[in-house]
Amino acid sequence: MGRRRGFSAKHCFTGLLYCAECGEQFRRIHWNNRGCKSVVWRCMTRLEKKGACHARTVYEESLKQAFVDALNQLTGGSETYLSILQENMTEVIEMEQSNLPEEIQRKLDVLQKKLIECAERHEDYEEIAQEIFRLREQKEQALRENVSQQEQKDRMRELQEFLAAQPHHITEFDETLVRHLLAKVTVSFDRLDFTFQSGVAVSIEK
Ligand SMILES: [Zn+2]
Repeated sequence: MGRRRGFSAKHCFTGLLYCAECGEQFRRIHWNNRGCKSVVWRCMTRLEKKGACHARTVYEESLKQAFVDALNQLTGGSETYLSILQENMTEVIEMEQSNLPEEIQRKLDVLQKKLIECAERHEDYEEIAQEIFRLREQKEQALRENVSQQEQKDRMRELQEFLAAQPHHITEFDETLVRHLLAKVTVSFDRLDFTFQSGVAVSIEK
């Protein structure tokens, strides 16, 4: 998931809201309900094909409040919440990595020696060569995965630093925070699930 850079004319929530029922994005609309004007977000499937999706309408005010609540759930109360998350995450990442590229390289070194020996003895080394190709690709893949895990860690740290710098209770909605921290909101009938760019998710009943 790419980071959203800079500012655009788009609303801060644009492209972030998804429907839990059909997976489609939500669109921002100005709603005039018998003279009562409000800004709401609605599932595009529901807007385009009546009856195809039953996703509810989300009032923008309520969405903003839920975002503030989600942030407060991260900062508020237990300072341990984030540190536990951080620990879990580091553990998972370290388990996944387990020096994979280095391990693969060791196998490669062995096979390369074997290949040279075979060649010197004029034996067939096709199978070994194939295995070397396969392992090289595997190593590339492992290196790429390490990079994305590092990015994930950086975002986690970024969120932690941001939260540490916040007053204990956030009272006002700030769209800059949405742009910098939020990755996705999934709209279900009884709750909003906020996924932050760091990978942390918070569920708000609303
Ligand atoms: Zn939908």
